[in-house]
Amino acid sequence: MGRMRIPPATIGGMNDAPEPSQGSPWRGFLLKLYVVVVVVTFAAVVGLVWSQEHAIGHELEARGRALFESIVLVRKWNSDHGGLFVEKKDGVVSNPFLEDPDRRGDDGTVYTLKNPALMTREISELAEKDANFRFHITSEHPVNPANKPDPFELAALQAFERGVEEETAREEIGGEPVFRYMAPLRVEESCLRCHAEHGYQVGDIRGGISVTFGISGEKDDIREMRWVAVAFFVGAAAFLLLFISRLVAALQRRVVAAEAQIREMALTDSLTELPNRRATTMRLELETARAARYGRPVAVVLLDVDHFKDLNDTGGHEAGDAILKALAQAGTGALREADLLGRWGGEEFLAVLPETDAAGARILAERLRTTIEALRVSQRDERFHVTVSAGVAAWAPSAPGCIPLDIDVLLREADAALYRAKGGGRNRVEGGSPSS
Ligand code: GH3
Ligand code: MG
Ligand code: MG
Repeated sequence: MGRMRIPPATIGGMNDAPEPSQGSPWRGFLLKLYVVVVVVTFAAVVGLVWSQEHAIGHELEARGRALFESIVLVRKWNSDHGGLFVEKKDGVVSNPFLEDPDRRGDDGTVYTLKNPALMTREISELAEKDANFRFHITSEHPVNPANKPDPFELAALQAFERGVEEETAREEIGGEPVFRYMAPLRVEESCLRCHAEHGYQVGDIRGGISVTFGISGEKDDIREMRWVAVAFFVGAAAFLLLFISRLVAALQRRVVAAEAQIREMALTDSLTELPNRRATTMRLELETARAARYGRPVAVVLLDVDHFKDLNDTGGHEAGDAILKALAQAGTGALREADLLGRWGGEEFLAVLPETDAAGARILAERLRTTIEALRVSQRDERFHVTVSAGVAAWAPSAPGCIPLDIDVLLREADAALYRAKGGGRNRVEGGSPSS
């Protein structure tokens, strides 16, 4: 009960630092953490989306390449057989770009030659109708005007001349998104059967085949994935921010509590739990400044235990400690709420008495002396008691707003009074004549 807690506001200097809980370092730290979390989450989500879109792009490329390779195989099969004759039924037209495409069988049936180019076109028409993709055989100078290259194909053909192996693009055709793939057509041995006269040589690039197919499904998938990614990002970032802010708040509370504990430890005497010399000095400085500002008196009482060395010698150090603790408690109890009793060092104590003149201080010093004189401390079946000598010093400012008295002046005066009390026989109070 006698433990004197130091109200934080009463200790000048030590509390000039901002409250850590509201301090900008925490805000700055949190802000940085938030930014890092948002940036990392965003980067992770963007990376995920990018890799997914990349994978879809690869898939589309692979699909285009597979379609291209399949039509090249079909053409090879056709040209390996020197073209394919089909029965010229109703609707089957002869290839106008071949010189003599029709043959009549022994039974009178007419057959017409489907060369690789025509076959490619017809399969393409079929594919476009049934399977949502088309092939287009093209070259820079086609025999058939329908095989003229479009801008993508022309650019690809020019790229093939430079050694590029394949080209891809995404375009919109008729409002529908499409993927385009194109690779060169190289002259093979079997092509020469018909094209030798055109000056073709094996390995020559003689145009290319483009593959075009719709990708609205993939586009929808990508759009949906982006929305999911946005939702995931918002959710993940919000969750992480909330989690972190709670974590940081908990950490902040612990740090604030630890700081308060450290501050208290730095200002408290561990044996008596009284304010230590540092805390007592700060309080005295504060009270002297306040006294000067308001023109109110302030006083101190310096106490020293009489013959304490003897008590230590006879009762032991533990008895001495027990006496100091009991004295601290009883002394604090004998003072007023606004007063402060601090451990000045060893067996010396200093009472800081705000709003107290010399006469009042003498009364309080006397009360302290008699309280301590009456104190009995039991230790290992022995009872101990001590007396104290007290030196009083008071300061009455001449007017409000005057310069505060140097506390050393007050302390020196109290010390001199204490010296007189010791010299005068101990267990007595000296000093307290008003000074200014
Ligand atoms: P006087 O009446 O002249 O003040 O005599 P004194 O014996 O009290 O003075 P002195 O300064 O010679 O001795 C003070 C003693 O206080 C010496 C020291 O061992 C003891 N002391 C100081 N701090 C502590 C403490 O924390 N615990 C205990 N048990 N003793 C302490
Ligand atoms: Mg002493
Ligand atoms: Mg002493």
